[in-house]
Amino acid sequence: MTTVDAGTGLVALLDDDIALASAIAGAELPALLPALAHLTGDMSLVADELRPPLRLRPDLVEPQGGMSEEAQELGRRRALAALQAFRDRGAVPAPDPDDATLRRLMRFVAGDVADDYLPLMSHELGLPADAGAPDWTAAEMAADRTFEVVVIGAGMSGLATAHRLRQAGVPVTVLERNDDVGGVWLENGYPGARLDTPNFAYSFSFSQRPDWLHLFSARDDIWGYFRDVAEKFDLRDCVRFGHEVVEAVFDEDTLLWTVRARRADGSDAVFEADVVVSATGQLNKPSYPDVPGRDRFAGPSWHTARWRDDVDLTGKRVAVIGTGASAYQVVPSIVDRVGALTVFQRTPPWMLPTPTYHDPTPEEQLRLLRELPYYHRWLRFLQFWTSVEGRRPFMEVDPRWEHPISVSPANEALRQALVTHLRRQFGDRPDLLAKVMPAYAPGSKRMMRDNGVWPAALKKDHVDLVTETITEITPEGVRTADGVLHEVDVLIYATGFRASDFLAPITVRGRDGVDLHEQWAGDARAHLGVHIPGFPNLFCVFGPNTGLVINGSILLFSEIAVEHILGCVRLLLESDASTVEVRREVHDAFNEHVDAGNRRMAWGVATVNSWYRNATGRASQVWPFTVLDYWHMVRKPVPADFHID
Ligand code: NAP
Repeated sequence: MTTVDAGTGLVALLDDDIALASAIAGAELPALLPALAHLTGDMSLVADELRPPLRLRPDLVEPQGGMSEEAQELGRRRALAALQAFRDRGAVPAPDPDDATLRRLMRFVAGDVADDYLPLMSHELGLPADAGAPDWTAAEMAADRTFEVVVIGAGMSGLATAHRLRQAGVPVTVLERNDDVGGVWLENGYPGARLDTPNFAYSFSFSQRPDWLHLFSARDDIWGYFRDVAEKFDLRDCVRFGHEVVEAVFDEDTLLWTVRARRADGSDAVFEADVVVSATGQLNKPSYPDVPGRDRFAGPSWHTARWRDDVDLTGKRVAVIGTGASAYQVVPSIVDRVGALTVFQRTPPWMLPTPTYHDPTPEEQLRLLRELPYYHRWLRFLQFWTSVEGRRPFMEVDPRWEHPISVSPANEALRQALVTHLRRQFGDRPDLLAKVMPAYAPGSKRMMRDNGVWPAALKKDHVDLVTETITEITPEGVRTADGVLHEVDVLIYATGFRASDFLAPITVRGRDGVDLHEQWAGDARAHLGVHIPGFPNLFCVFGPNTGLVINGSILLFSEIAVEHILGCVRLLLESDASTVEVRREVHDAFNEHVDAGNRRMAWGVATVNSWYRNATGRASQVWPFTVLDYWHMVRKPVPADFHID
């Protein structure tokens, strides 16, 4: 039987006809209808005439999944009637749906997708069970063996790793340099920081939250979510906070890793582990522009990811260098406080129209999400599904397409839509429009969410958008190539991260004392983003070539990588082996495959600056294939790909 608790909140909602009708009126029907069919067993709620078409559009925001007005009306009527009938029957939930019913519900949202997708879809729905949980324990595999895992980092990937290892009963210690969990969401406390992917899908399948306060959560809310995950699964007691890993060395005699961490007081702590998992993230090592004079600036200066709350910006002349995602959030948030704002732009980003970007979740929707069983899960599923391959098809290179800027007819259609959006936003300011119009294919670098606050900020009288190249930082401010010195009191670097410096600055030595960073020579590679030849039992989550920039969810990718790593731990335990190490030829073939894949994507053929590519020009951060490809290739380790000794 179902475990739904048709508790007092739901009963009160069902008894309040006005609140119920108003909640249904504002609900997302492509999620509400399968949720209600799930709850009540009434499959007329997911009949064909109600199915949302979910057409793929460049901006991806099609209200109600593109359902016609008539279908929406019918859906709302059926939803209300079904809930009233449910109430009148005593609010007894239907039995758990069988597999066929669950598939039918998923297909109501996803249409006639290939069967291949179904396991991935149930994994994301989290029903009927937590599909990513290990179905084994260390005690079952190797009761007498001591086996320790050290995880580096307590951000979202580290938390997921610790949780899954704990579920399998594998002892784990997480070493975290900060004093709390949350990784980038802890570190990026700058004004305006918030998600730029819809929030329900930016959460773990194994810890779904019903009541996100915004469609795109603000930083405190999303950081709070990761802190709650740590509490809920009792993960804090395995984390050593204030421990910054400085070195990890593999010992070929003991076949163990020795991990050295530095504490805040300068002392070292040493840990031995069978397995080391790097969950060190990608976008967390601040990058500063390579211009002379940075250390000569007389006033306060800082990076967005190291925000200083002790400096009051009120009335100050402030410079912001950069126009990436961080700047897009900082600038509108501080513009009305500062006396003058100079924004330095090197490359304009494309802006994705997102009118609801800052909108809170309406109160009656929060009530529905909290009280109506399954609704939040199906809303998360809807967000997951619409973004799973998302805008990816718009970024694929068509080799027959000849155009100076776009890479395919679909990419050109997207470009035209985005140009129209920019003209609409800056039509009244031709001077600004000329500066903000990108001259590269959409998808070559990260796009920004625009709900109008960025254009509004740039148009203010006390704001100047400077596009001249920065040549020097002086004590007084920023000098540009035209010789102008832009004098400011405060200098803010919104200049991004050293995304390609995986595992830096940690010294990592594998077999024969080989240094990982020397082996990589600035061009990090890993099999499936997880395994590096010569470095047995070192596994990466969110490693090279696993970044998602246009579709899917990085949390899902982390979950899949973690499930793969659990699979490797199981291989070690069940075969009583000491090490698992990727075969070099398997690693090389994977990397050739990934490189070829990236060359078929807009970012792979682009020459514009972006953090997707490393100093060699190779796209070492980005996954070029579909989410389903990643699921198939990564989730379960293939023993033949490894030396297991
Ligand atoms: P970024 O996208 O790498 O942007 C850095 C900016 O600094 C770019 O505009 C870059 O110009 C500029 N810049 C760098 N060196 C410069 C120089 N010497 N002179 C002038 N400009 C210079 O970094 P970010 O904005 O921190 O965002 C990084 C990524 O983090 C995002 O793409 C996103 O994936 C993630 N992020 C997410 C959120 C969110 O979810 N809400 C928020 C923030 C960040 P070029 O474009 O010419 O390189």
